[in-house]
Amino acid sequence: MVIGVSACLLGENCKYNGGNNINEKVINYIKGHEVIPVCPEVLGGLPIPRDPAEIVDGVVKHKDGSSVDKEFRTGAQKALEILNDRGAELVILKSRSPSCGVNTVYDGTFSGKLVHGNGVFVELLKEYGINVLDVENLG
Ligand code: SF4
Repeated sequence: MVIGVSACLLGENCKYNGGNNINEKVINYIKGHEVIPVCPEVLGGLPIPRDPAEIVDGVVKHKDGSSVDKEFRTGAQKALEILNDRGAELVILKSRSPSCGVNTVYDGTFSGKLVHGNGVFVELLKEYGINVLDVENLG
């Protein structure tokens, strides 16, 4: 199977704070599969490290109110194209991210509160009928 994965889950230091979210469960699960790591935020041209962002009333913003919506959506589109070109059937995603969160994201108040919703990349994947899986639901 061809599987897309949030790159930070594979140990790439592409998180907003310059770190990663390496996950042993993911590493074990993808063994024997064709794997495509993608980080939509980096593909959108955002630097590492970068300020954290959340979805505020449908727009991705920094805490100071500045918008990074364009970068997030451009990166999501690029990541989708990469996965589509390679025929990805499933994408395993990092929980709660404003790009990669599946069904749950931070609420836009930068206070750690969660709400029901998807990251902008996940919205796009769902629109295109690609199966998504929150890493916390793996196994
Ligand atoms: S955009 Fe996705 S892949 Fe990139 S650091 Fe955030 S959660 Fe990880």
